[in-house]
Amino acid sequence: MSFPTLSAALDSLLALTSPAVIQRGEDYFRGGCVRALGHTPGGRFMAIVSASADSTYRVFVETRDGGNSETWDSVADFGCNCPYDAEPVCKHLVAVFRDIQAGEAVDVGEDLEGELWDWLAQGRESAERKVQLERSLRSGDIALLRACTPLATRSNVHRFYAAMETLRGPEVLQLRRELNRQVYAVSP
Ligand SMILES: [Zn+2]
Repeated sequence: MSFPTLSAALDSLLALTSPAVIQRGEDYFRGGCVRALGHTPGGRFMAIVSASADSTYRVFVETRDGGNSETWDSVADFGCNCPYDAEPVCKHLVAVFRDIQAGEAVDVGEDLEGELWDWLAQGRESAERKVQLERSLRSGDIALLRACTPLATRSNVHRFYAAMETLRGPEVLQLRRELNRQVYAVSP
């Protein structure tokens, strides 16, 4: 079944995704790495993405209004349990987005609802926060970057530093110290 408004919402998320990740995700999609893509009647999608026996990950996409909303906000949350967190969308999510857009998701009824929530419980973080972080990193705006400090991790902090590269002033030094303290537990 196809979901035109949800497809547009997924494209909005892909617009915030780096070309290299999109390329690899589309290779996974075309290579048939997306297995067991299903959705509940309420619009919660889940899938297994497996490129090899030792790389199998679980992906979910949760919609609002069963995917009928007119804006990108029809995606309430999304996630993957792989370790990649340098940007909101990983290659596994790209592959699943493409599979959803291709109309491959089947209605699995409410039976898998419990299983889905077990997945969601792992490192759940709202889509709004992930997207806010990505927009802030791209903005080069010191106030926006500071607001996202709590989301900095060892694997994404290099992107904060890159975003601050052309910025100057005392608040830039201050933010640098805050990031160091938080990510590496370094005293100022
Ligand atoms: Zn992933």
